[in-house]
Amino acid sequence: MPPSPVTGLHHVTAISGPAQQNVDFYNGLLGLRFVKKTVNFDDPGTYHLYYADGDARPGSFLTFFPWADSIPGRIGPGQATVTAYAVPVGAVDMWLARFADEGIDFGSPAERFGQRVLSFRAPDGLALELIEAPAASGGWENGPIPLNAALGAFHSVTLCTFDPDVTARLLTEVMGYDETGQDGGRLRFENAATERAAVVDLVCPPGIDRGRMGTGTVHHVAFRVPDDEAQVEARALLLDAGLQPTPVIDRQYFHSIYFREPGGVLFEIATDPPGFALDEPADRLGHDLKLPPQHEPLRPQIEQRLAPLTIPRPDG
Ligand code: ZN
Repeated sequence: MPPSPVTGLHHVTAISGPAQQNVDFYNGLLGLRFVKKTVNFDDPGTYHLYYADGDARPGSFLTFFPWADSIPGRIGPGQATVTAYAVPVGAVDMWLARFADEGIDFGSPAERFGQRVLSFRAPDGLALELIEAPAASGGWENGPIPLNAALGAFHSVTLCTFDPDVTARLLTEVMGYDETGQDGGRLRFENAATERAAVVDLVCPPGIDRGRMGTGTVHHVAFRVPDDEAQVEARALLLDAGLQPTPVIDRQYFHSIYFREPGGVLFEIATDPPGFALDEPADRLGHDLKLPPQHEPLRPQIEQRLAPLTIPRPDG
């Protein structure tokens, strides 16, 4: 099989509680940059909110569908169960104090593969981690968190799948990952083509119920390719492997294909270009509601349906 054009993680998309609670937590408390206010292109009456590191680089994008009438989901097999951001070494102590002050539900710091890990939950239940990593870089200069503690790119996502062996084979044979470690029941995979957002862990504790999509769960995990040509190559490799990727779909800020990996998790492969500065200045991201051309004619009706949002730490 030819080498995979996949270069690590691109974004993680989750289902959240109310939109205002979402921006207050991810922009205000965690200090991620709010980089795009748009709608779910498949359901334009609901927001799609995007967060990133200061430079808005792929591998740091966390995106949300705040579904107002969604019921709480259940984290379990068939999902990405944990999303982890890299933070500079020594940063966990600051975060422990901040989470305690802010009433965030967090666990005791743990050690994993020689790195310090702090597990916590967003107010809507999404499972997150901060992992101290020597290569953590990024942060957001204009954000509320000092750069020596700020979130950079993703460290990793953790997957729990119905068939870890086939998921592992997909990662290593088709998606450019090498198995690089084992810690208890946790298998670690790394993509050698990148230094940021390179890690995928596979761990599924026995006896937990099947995951159920809903508030506080990850909807899908997106991997990166550098351009459209690489995406076509990746799609061909997936077809050769017997998977069923969608045709390329224009997501305005990137181009995407989607497929269900054989262990049950919804995967996407997204291009790095064109990026978030496509429709607003790079130093004023997230200011205005942005709609793709197909929904622009409905702007008045869409704006009427969406609750107004106050961004705690606006750009620019
Ligand atoms: Zn996506």
